[in-house]
Amino acid sequence: MHELSLMESALRIATEHAAASGATRIVSLTLRVGALSGVVPEALEFAFDVLREGTAAEGAELHIQQEPVRARCPCSPDELFETSGPVCLCPRCSEPTADIVAGREMDLVSMEVETP
Ligand SMILES: [Zn+2]
Repeated sequence: MHELSLMESALRIATEHAAASGATRIVSLTLRVGALSGVVPEALEFAFDVLREGTAAEGAELHIQQEPVRARCPCSPDELFETSGPVCLCPRCSEPTADIVAGREMDLVSMEVETP
């Protein structure tokens, strides 16, 4: 279950940021999860529930944005197209492309904190 370790590092980053800005409490966290990242949002929520205990994020809300896969084809290098799976067929020339630009990552997009 790698969601646990992903959530652990996301929470670490969030609590460090909160501490650095003098915040006492994290109100909400927004994560962006790529469709190819292999992350299951439900597992992420579960990990969050477990890991936030005793941290500044205890009681915080978790928002998960799911990001589609975006790929590029040599026939139109300036254009990105969205696709749902790891095999991407270019909508213009119907050739498969492996040039996946986005959709593998998991990022902490934003967080809301409460300062005294
Ligand atoms: Zn193409």
